Amino acid sequence: MEAPELKPCPFCGGEAETHERMDENIWDHSQVTWVSVSCGNIDCDFQGFDWPLEAEPNAFGRWNTRADTALQEEVERLREALKRVATPSAFYVATSNVDPEAYGRMVYAEMVLKGSGLHEAEAEAEAAVRSRFAPPLKEGT
Ligand SMILES: [Zn+2]
Repeated sequence: MEAPELKPCPFCGGEAETHERMDENIWDHSQVTWVSVSCGNIDCDFQGFDWPLEAEPNAFGRWNTRADTALQEEVERLREALKRVATPSAFYVATSNVDPEAYGRMVYAEMVLKGSGLHEAEAEAEAAVRSRFAPPLKEGT
């Protein structure tokens, strides 16, 4: 059977590898096709799945579902981490210590949390730093 399109490994982004083998059903001695899907990255610890092809879901379905779930969990984890970094007190410290870089990073994190694209957040952060930490205008300029 042709494998459906498989998502990358949910833990390392590695390409999925599939293997098929025939085995005998111990009850009726029929032949059963087993399919395993695992991560092709040998340094990755994700074990993957090994299920009969006829199972519902089989190893392909389980792999793709796990990839979605793991991706969603990773997004939530990173979102929580950003929220812990970009706190009001961190903003306060960054601005009161006159630390433009820290302030820019706070603005960046806040923009990303609000759903901005990374380039847009970067531009917004640079603009915020320029406006907040602009050098005072000299006399006559
Ligand atoms: Zn992997």
